[in-house]
Amino acid sequence: MVEQVVEPRIRGFISVTAHPEGCAANVRAQVEVAKQGLAGMPRLGPTLVVGSSTGYGLATLLSACFGLDAPVLGVCFERESSEEKLGTAGWYNLAEAHRLAQAEGRHLETVNGDAFSDEVKTQVIDALRERYGPIELLVYSLAAPRRTDPASGAVWHSVLKPVGADFHDKTVNLRTNEVEEASIEAATPEEIEGTRHVMGGEDWAEWVRRLQEAGLLAPGFRTVAYSYVGPVLTQAIYRHGTIGLAKEHLEATAGELTASLSDLDGHAWVSVNKAVVTQASAAIPAVGLYVSLLLKVMKERGTHEGTIEQIVRLLRTQVGPGVEPQPDDAGLIRLDDLELEPDVQAAVAEAWARVSTENLREISDYDGYQADFQRLFGFGVEGIDYSAPTEVHRPLV
Ligand code: NAD
Repeated sequence: MVEQVVEPRIRGFISVTAHPEGCAANVRAQVEVAKQGLAGMPRLGPTLVVGSSTGYGLATLLSACFGLDAPVLGVCFERESSEEKLGTAGWYNLAEAHRLAQAEGRHLETVNGDAFSDEVKTQVIDALRERYGPIELLVYSLAAPRRTDPASGAVWHSVLKPVGADFHDKTVNLRTNEVEEASIEAATPEEIEGTRHVMGGEDWAEWVRRLQEAGLLAPGFRTVAYSYVGPVLTQAIYRHGTIGLAKEHLEATAGELTASLSDLDGHAWVSVNKAVVTQASAAIPAVGLYVSLLLKVMKERGTHEGTIEQIVRLLRTQVGPGVEPQPDDAGLIRLDDLELEPDVQAAVAEAWARVSTENLREISDYDGYQADFQRLFGFGVEGIDYSAPTEVHRPLV
């Protein structure tokens, strides 16, 4: 037993501490949404989630495991807890997911390591072969700052920069809570290429190739990777920036993968999800401010969805067992339909034009944004006594 009082130590868009019990409560709340939202659906077969510990990947793992009764294997890159050191939020999320799965007799395993490496792919293949059998669904939900190319050893970096012209626009500084101008120089060709190597479709394709070669894809296999499009307001930094070009590559990869899966009658999809507060999205300039404005508008209209609600909708209406996807003309699954409704975007754009440090909390839901952000690390969760010592070493059972 190693009990201690855990306090937030937030540094800009990251908290260097995470509260184990707060993270556990977040997971339990998501599990409830998944169970209710997916009740009555057929059971899902063996499922692999790459990027399984936080954000959209965690919501996918919880939905598949607890909502659709699937045996699930997750892959993530987290700092595990020890007697001496706190684990990361993702670690504590999975510690609770494993505990619940064991208590309910479900099959959940985690491989914690670099998903880009050959070693982790081999470890996953061995685990699937020994304990799962061919998978029905692979969800690819990585958001990573770098990737070491296993063949050449080259290290690629993902950057969040505009392409073709410098970026000057509003952003909210998460350290000072001030609305200020962000200025970011246009990316170099090397940075554009590096981001594509990290966040494009290469590694997704490599996972599918290795699993197919190992005979571990079930007939009718489906794979889904997550993408984002977003509004005109953020397009200079997002969709037309380095990350957007990488997402275009990811989207093109889906077509190539579908062709390679024809013998299995398999299909690769990209799901364009809505903007939500995650560790990855908090790092993107201007997006924090946009999401704060969006939250206010969508909550007022009653159309707000969080990460788990989006994934429950994805499984229930698009890629869950027995469901036929309804892609748009470009072949993309669109879960960002409510975010991009013209009246929602018009209201956000109108507020964007006049938002300042002085009116930030009045015309946006910056308080809600900050609360969501702190909750990612287990802080500000209802029912948790933050003055009480809590067990910090939580192994994955
Ligand atoms: P996140 O930061 O919450 O999750 C990233 C996951 O990747 C974590 O589980 C982390 O452990 C894992 N990971 C990172 N590097 C790894 C590595 N080398 N090996 C193994 N695991 C590794 O991010 P998120 O926002 O949930 O993003 C997931 C996907 O969803 C991304 O493709 C993102 O572009 C997409 N998306 C996000 C949003 C949003 O608003 N957050 C919107 C639409 C789409």
